[in-house]
Amino acid sequence: MSTVAFIGLGNMGGPMAANLLKAGMTVRVFDLVHTAMQTLAEQGALVSSTACGAAAGANVVITMLPAGKHVKNLYLGSGSEKGLLDVVASDTLLIDCSTIDAQSAQLVATQAAKNGLEFMDAPVSGGTSGAAAGTLTFICGGSDTAFERAQPVLNAMGKNIFHAGGPGAGQIAKICNNMLLSVLMVGTSEALQMGIDHGLDPKVLSNIMKVSSGGNWTLEKYNPCPGVMENVPSSKGYQGGFMVDLMVKDLGLSFEAALLSNSSTPMGALARSLYVSHARQGNGHRDFSSIFEQFAPLKK
Ligand code: NAD
Repeated sequence: MSTVAFIGLGNMGGPMAANLLKAGMTVRVFDLVHTAMQTLAEQGALVSSTACGAAAGANVVITMLPAGKHVKNLYLGSGSEKGLLDVVASDTLLIDCSTIDAQSAQLVATQAAKNGLEFMDAPVSGGTSGAAAGTLTFICGGSDTAFERAQPVLNAMGKNIFHAGGPGAGQIAKICNNMLLSVLMVGTSEALQMGIDHGLDPKVLSNIMKVSSGGNWTLEKYNPCPGVMENVPSSKGYQGGFMVDLMVKDLGLSFEAALLSNSSTPMGALARSLYVSHARQGNGHRDFSSIFEQFAPLKK
């Protein structure tokens, strides 16, 4: 059975690593936050004192970090600090599940190949609930062999596993998805608030729109209006879930990708501006469905 090194045990990485343990794999963990490692240790993980210590000798390395700079520093090293590419065994499969820019993913894949290693980008969709339930969607960019080799670990954490193309392709597909998600979340929020402003019950309106032509994932799984659905961030003070700061990061990535390809993305650009301004009002650490409050009347 595989030994997996899992680095980055935040809102997503923690429950993903827990599912590898449940599947009977040996899991070595590392995070900069000690309590995050302790939670996994209680479930049977082996705690390492450094990322390189966790990765050395592992069959598979999985990383789940905030942004491209963290991924590049960790794999490539910085200054005198060694990177993961310097310490892993030559047959170790490297999988980065963070959402980062495609260029950084391609750079790490190229450097890995120079060391004779396979690196695959495999960003995820499905949120923290999908991470906990082991039903994530993995969107992979890499070689056919890396994709095949990754199946056992990805299957232990997810339900739908797609091969989008070569290195970086997973990241491009992922930011297309998140740009669309942000547009849907903003549109759903303004529609719900307009209904409320006209005296409608948001639960009734949500039920109508869910099965009508405006139906979408945010209405089905992640209603932004507090009290409409149980167990979603909007009904828990917008805590947990997917942070506004991370959505701002992803919309920055889609904006840069659009510039590179000269694509026209007016809705994505508008959603980015709305999310940036929401973050600047102190909402960066709240769930991204809190954008709903931008449309609600001010509480007196
Ligand atoms: P998070 O901030 O909760 O977790 C990131 C973790 O990485 C933290 O625990 C942090 O301490 C750790 N970390 C940072 N640098 C490190 C380093 N050098 N070594 C070890 N640990 C390090 O973020 P998250 O919500 O888990 O998201 C992680 C990634 O997944 C992001 O790229 C995000 O865009 C993406 N994502 C998140 C969601 C979601 O719903 N939260 C959904 C899909 C994709």
